Amino acid sequence: MSQPQFRTPKGTHDVLPEDHQYMTYIKKAVRHRARQAGFRRIDTPMYENKAIFERGIGEHTDIVEKELFLVTSKQREAEEKEAEFALRPEFTAGICRSYIEHGMQQLPQPVELYAIGQCFRHDRPQKGRYRQFHQFDMEVIGLKDPSIDAQLIQVIMNIFKDIRIADRLQLHINNIGTAENRVAYTEALKDFFIGKERNLPEIDRDRLTTNPLRLLDSKEEDTQILLKSAPTFEQFLDEESKAYHKTLLEYLDTLDIEYIENPKLVRGLDYYTQTVFEFQDKETGAQNAVGGGGRYDGLIELFGGQPTPGVGFAGGIERMVWHMKQAGVKAPHKDQVDVFVAQLGPEAKKECLKLITGLRDKGVHTLGALGEASLKSQMRLADKFEARYTLLLGKMEVKTGTIILRDMAAGKQQEIKYKDAISKVIELLGKDNLDTYTIRDRFVEVDED
Ligand code: AMP
Repeated sequence: MSQPQFRTPKGTHDVLPEDHQYMTYIKKAVRHRARQAGFRRIDTPMYENKAIFERGIGEHTDIVEKELFLVTSKQREAEEKEAEFALRPEFTAGICRSYIEHGMQQLPQPVELYAIGQCFRHDRPQKGRYRQFHQFDMEVIGLKDPSIDAQLIQVIMNIFKDIRIADRLQLHINNIGTAENRVAYTEALKDFFIGKERNLPEIDRDRLTTNPLRLLDSKEEDTQILLKSAPTFEQFLDEESKAYHKTLLEYLDTLDIEYIENPKLVRGLDYYTQTVFEFQDKETGAQNAVGGGGRYDGLIELFGGQPTPGVGFAGGIERMVWHMKQAGVKAPHKDQVDVFVAQLGPEAKKECLKLITGLRDKGVHTLGALGEASLKSQMRLADKFEARYTLLLGKMEVKTGTIILRDMAAGKQQEIKYKDAISKVIELLGKDNLDTYTIRDRFVEVDED
């Protein structure tokens, strides 16, 4: 085969139908569990004013400093103005912007929102790290209580259980205190490293000036050795944060949720306060976390809203698919072809178009009337599509008001009355196996992308 002229851009991928079987399964679990817990779906634009990310996530975080995709237009370029927008690298900042913009503080609190969609980060692509990827995101905004954090964690845990990857993951949890605690600790950390900068690897020397907290989850061995004698976060936590954390852990115990207290967990984003947590791969740890989240009690105020607490979580869908595959989980799907309708002659073809519509309306997955090929090659096609049954309508059958029904696996066929074709197929497939939806489903259970 010749090389295709165009390929997906580096770090992006096509989600092919086989992968959609997993994605659909995951989305279904997310929607189901979210609804059970009172969450409602929100979609925010894929790009937003870039200041939302810079201010919210933090200018000196990797996500903003190195990984933001800027969006500009020909007009702006012509005016030599810098980019106004950026593709969302995550959901939280946009959802908080939306909460303020739509006056959601007027709604009963907390407001529980969830989103599913693409995020973009201009990272160096590697396994499990893409430039365009999917997240599901859940946010609880407007009320603060450890029971809210615990319930959010429980909902996420249930999603991981539903898709059968919970056993492969470990919940790490920490409390990083209030914004004031963070400032005090950051100063202490900077003081501690005065005179020791030379011993730090270059990347962490930079972080010391831009975002010292990131040193805590540094992967550099030299940094970790130095940190052993550094002041710890715990020494700077106020009593309220300590009590909050203690109660949260008690609630997790009550809900039988296992966790690892991890004082090194800081998460890379500036907006976090107090609770932070991450679901890490049991085998490889932090590097391939499947999802993470935490509290962001100052974020909405930072965006100009009333002081409003919030807690949220984002899970990486590609990494969830990967875990499902590793665990040998087969995503159930409904992509099979039930019936292939083969026809010969213009009259038969017209009849078949009606028949196909009739079958589809009843919830039978039906293909056919695809062209002018011979009956033999249509049968071959039916085989390739792995159709369970074939209905054959030739010139003769049109005249006699009959049709041939062939069971493909058994290799047996029978002539039946044309008018009985649909009911016979339904009988063979079984009513429970029909892909139907009711009006109620259409509004409530809609299969969103
Ligand atoms: P974060 O808030 O950065 O921890 O992201 C939340 C989750 O999104 C991560 O735990 C990953 O599962 C997923 N994720 C983040 N960045 C990427 C990426 N570049 N490619 C694929 N998945 C990602």
